[in-house]
Amino acid sequence: MLLGCIADDFTGATDLANNLVRSGMRTLQTIGVPNTPLAADVDAVVVALKSRTIAAAEAVAQSLAALEWLKRAGCRQFYFKYCSTFDSTPQGNIGPVAEALMQALGARIAIACPAFPTNARTIYMGNLFVGEVPLSESGMRHHPLTPMSDANLVRVLQAQSRSKVGLVPWTAVAAGDQAIRARFAALSSEGVRLAVVDAITDADLHAIAAACADHPLITAGSGVAIGLPGNFHRAGLLPPRADAAELPRVPGLAAVISGSCSQATNGQVAHWMDSGRPAIRIDPFEIARGTDVAARALRQAAALLDAGPVLFYATAAPEEVRTVQAELGVGEAGAMVEQALARIAQGLIARGVTRLVVAGGETAGAVVQALGVEALKIGPQIDPGVPWTATQGAHPILLALKSGNFGSRDFFVKSLEQLDA
Ligand code: ADP
Repeated sequence: MLLGCIADDFTGATDLANNLVRSGMRTLQTIGVPNTPLAADVDAVVVALKSRTIAAAEAVAQSLAALEWLKRAGCRQFYFKYCSTFDSTPQGNIGPVAEALMQALGARIAIACPAFPTNARTIYMGNLFVGEVPLSESGMRHHPLTPMSDANLVRVLQAQSRSKVGLVPWTAVAAGDQAIRARFAALSSEGVRLAVVDAITDADLHAIAAACADHPLITAGSGVAIGLPGNFHRAGLLPPRADAAELPRVPGLAAVISGSCSQATNGQVAHWMDSGRPAIRIDPFEIARGTDVAARALRQAAALLDAGPVLFYATAAPEEVRTVQAELGVGEAGAMVEQALARIAQGLIARGVTRLVVAGGETAGAVVQALGVEALKIGPQIDPGVPWTATQGAHPILLALKSGNFGSRDFFVKSLEQLDA
């Protein structure tokens, strides 16, 4: 075991795990801190927490518990993963969690670098850009939970940290890992413990990763991780792996469950139906009237599943969702639909489904919880940020968990076909 990661949300954890697998590390993602020791033979583990917007003290406690588990699993280096838009409030949680992990690991300095140039997140002079605009002018300005009104990460991080925050400017980053290390040393001598690091290109991320090879802790988005396998290769700790994304071959039936109402998912549901494949609609009003919609949908699907995959969808256009929400309440409607879809997932597994695509972040969370999934081995990528995964144990299930706006229009068809390719 080389790398132990702590991610502050579920889809962010998958994004990081996906990057590690693509760079040649066998990676397991756990849902929360496991109760049992690590059993899988992997190079990296990503513990997915749900700590982005909870109280700072609770985020610290959960992150330290994850760290303890990862230490016992034998990790040599640790990674605290947050969002590429640095989603946090002035009270935390990035600063407090980073400081607590540094203290637990005896780290003198740690980077803070959410840059992910592939996704148009770049940092210059400590200012985070989303595409062409500063973070504070991006959509993140209006985020319901973590509005970001300042693009200057040195200021943002300083406001939520006790330690001194400094900057490794792009001039040092562009000069390579030795120059970055020299800057770390200079900052350390000024008493800086958290260093925001500029990054504009993937080459910058590789240089930053190389400069952090001996850091006990890295705090970053998922971008910096692309350079870490190279460090382990150079140190002779990680052999080249052609099988990093390998998953067990699992025969069985297939299905798709869609609870996301994003534009992309609406397109994916339309594509599925346009291709003439079977689809069963889940109507929130019917659930609200007390009909056992899940049981009926499973009965309807029973005869269809042997012939090919079936789609179950609550996915609807924005106007329709607004009507449902106005009548049933936003939270109530969401919970009702999630519960019905999670029960459908349980029924499908009992019916012999072993390949399941789930659309929607919250929906995926509900399904994974209902199925009692504790850990997922990360497999090959389907679309950027979305890999196939496999549950652990004697009877693995293959899961593709797709959040909101991810995936091409033919994602449902493509992901299932990929398994037989
Ligand atoms: P995304 O990743 O696109 O945000 P989520 O699953 O996280 O998708 O969130 C979608 C939410 O909308 C879920 O709580 C789901 O139960 C709810 N939902 C799904 N279909 C409907 C619908 N027709 N009307 C109202 N809410 C719905």
